[in-house]
Amino acid sequence: MQKFKGRGTNQNPANRFDKIEYIAEHCESPEEERKLETKYFKDNSKTIVAFNDSPDIYGNASINVYRGCEHGCVYCYARPTHEYLSLSTGIDFETKIFVKHDAPKLLYQTLASKNWQPQVIMMSGNTDCYQPVEKKLKLTRACLEVLSAFRNPVCIVTKNKLVTRDIDILSKMAEFKTVSVFLSITSLDNRLASVMEPRTSKPHLKLEAIKELSDAGIPTGIMVAPVIPGLTDHEIPRILKYASAAGAKHASFVMLRLPYGVKNLFLNWLDEYFPGRKQKVVNKLRELYGNKLYDSTFYVRGRGKGAYAEEVRNIFKISCRKFGINKERLSLSTAHFKNPEEKQLDLFSI
Ligand code: SF4
Repeated sequence: MQKFKGRGTNQNPANRFDKIEYIAEHCESPEEERKLETKYFKDNSKTIVAFNDSPDIYGNASINVYRGCEHGCVYCYARPTHEYLSLSTGIDFETKIFVKHDAPKLLYQTLASKNWQPQVIMMSGNTDCYQPVEKKLKLTRACLEVLSAFRNPVCIVTKNKLVTRDIDILSKMAEFKTVSVFLSITSLDNRLASVMEPRTSKPHLKLEAIKELSDAGIPTGIMVAPVIPGLTDHEIPRILKYASAAGAKHASFVMLRLPYGVKNLFLNWLDEYFPGRKQKVVNKLRELYGNKLYDSTFYVRGRGKGAYAEEVRNIFKISCRKFGINKERLSLSTAHFKNPEEKQLDLFSI
């Protein structure tokens, strides 16, 4: 199989909606690593806020400025969404990124609409809003400017320290309780992170981001996501300890989720990097998900059930208590929502 430098996977499995599959039978130099450039495509979506009614997900509304994610985490449960674009969950997902250049304008129109009910909007509900191209395009930043102007609350989850670039906007939003930021940390092991989530910020940079954000008065938390049974589960207490020391006040976790083609991507990745751990990981997943590798049932996905699930929950809870996390409830407010255009009208009505 061809190898790609700095990517989460080397595979491009068939799209589950396609009837015909292309299989490459010959590869000139399978062991040689090849550099594969990321390509960007214009996404002409006409709406920007997506709604879901999943009872086990925080926040019904979300914005995804980018489709696909260059961070390339091998375990990413958003990978199968690329199949709706006639692409693959594999290398396509991390190298063919669709960009919603109109996102800030569409967001402004949505929030200014009379039909808009002020509510928390999730950023990175699907793919990371601070993935590398955001450094240049600044679309997430422009969306934050819109959210800040309307004082509409936002909850950001990211694996990239780039979020600290926007501290100027985020700290203003914090004054109105309209922002929280969660850094997502899977492991503090650099070697593991570099092959498992190759283009995310290194673990110590994520901790630095927590410190800078919380020092700026922005409510900051840590997502231990995903917890990989048999591979990273033992790191939970340590991650919470360091996150707390950096200033994280809130925490949550998500268990590994392997929908559709992500299962094989992940199992093949284990074969390549951690063959000795594979059986242990598989056994734990089967324990969590009723003898399957994944169960998408609400409240089971992302948590699992049974004795092992309970054990992880308890370790997480005890560690949070020990390190002073989740002492206060995180609450975002819609009380200060205002339409910046209506300010003009107010002036005229004086
Ligand atoms: S950063 Fe998030 S969205 Fe991007 S690949 Fe990793 S898990 Fe997926």
